[in-house]
Amino acid sequence: MSLLAFNARVRREVTAQRPLAHLTTLRVGGPAEYYLEARGFRDVMDAAEACRQTGLPLSVLGGGSNLLIDDAGVPGVVVNLKQMKRVVPTEHRLLVSAGASLTSVVATCARAGIAGPEGLAGIPGTIGGALAMNAGGRFAEIGEFVHKVLWLSPQGTVRYLYREEIQFSYRKSSLQGGVVLEAILEGKRGEPAALLARMKQIMDQKLASQPYAAASAGCAFTNPPGQSAGKLIDLAGCKGMSVGGAQVSEQHGNFIVNKGAATCSDVLKLMGKVKKRVFEHHGIQLIPEVKAWPQPIELAA
Ligand SMILES: Cc1cc2nc3c(=O)[nH]c(=O)nc-3n(C[C@H](O)[C@H](O)[C@H](O)COP(=O)(O)OP(=O)(O)OC[C@H]3O[C@@H](n4cnc5c(N)ncnc54)[C@H](O)[C@@H]3O)c2cc1C
Repeated sequence: MSLLAFNARVRREVTAQRPLAHLTTLRVGGPAEYYLEARGFRDVMDAAEACRQTGLPLSVLGGGSNLLIDDAGVPGVVVNLKQMKRVVPTEHRLLVSAGASLTSVVATCARAGIAGPEGLAGIPGTIGGALAMNAGGRFAEIGEFVHKVLWLSPQGTVRYLYREEIQFSYRKSSLQGGVVLEAILEGKRGEPAALLARMKQIMDQKLASQPYAAASAGCAFTNPPGQSAGKLIDLAGCKGMSVGGAQVSEQHGNFIVNKGAATCSDVLKLMGKVKKRVFEHHGIQLIPEVKAWPQPIELAA
């Protein structure tokens, strides 16, 4: 399908061969075949409908903080939701559009005295990405704070899903595959000053233990049950290992950082080496946490 014809269907400016690397925190990968920035639900629904009609795949980009994009780029349409960033506090809840940054939402919750989300302090990305990934860690996971989510299903229907209708598990949710458009979050009542102080404490801990300023996609692998992937990687002697411009962080074994000129291929090769070493040392198969576009990551055992 020509760019012109696709443009006509989505009624928004669509660009072809748009570079994506700078829209991800790891900063690797090739361009999107087609790319648009949605201003609201209508644009997302139009793009999804055009994709269904044409058979083009649709990929939703949030903050790009958990993404590894192939060097050859992404076929089909990439929709960036960063312009959809409404955050509206109500008495005990918060209405948030999918492209709002999780960091700003966490801070707004704390200031509004909504307790719980402060445990997500320091996690980059958007609300949509966080809900799709059930982002979280030691202190909280975002699924705990969902009242309801407005979701565009792969079949093209839009409806609110209440928390009990959504499956949230470790770094996964049943929202993956569709598009989160907006969410209403809730929490217990808390004292804003205490919540803001807790946020700062968690952020300080992260800054001390993670290569926060480096280009990375956060944790490369999920934690095996009852274990820390970072510790296993460290004990297997992988810290500092590198392939091309990709390196296992010296500060945190589960972070792969782009030293400047890494490619997706470098990152995948390095992940494969780390997985192999960890298996040789501990007999444990690591599973990638980072999402790969367009194909899921498959590392040799
Ligand atoms: C320094 C650093 C620290 C991190 N720390 C943590 C941490 O402590 N805990 C943690 O869980 N993660 C962490 N991450 C990973 C990442 O920040 C989270 O997974 C984040 O929630 C991803 O959100 P995003 O908007 O960037 O999603 P993206 O990276 O843009 O996308 C990730 C996936 O979500 C999908 N997606 C995005 N938006 C939507 C939407 N609106 N609807 C449906 N699907 C969507 C994408 O298609 C993709 O499959 C860290 C990353 C970095 C770089």
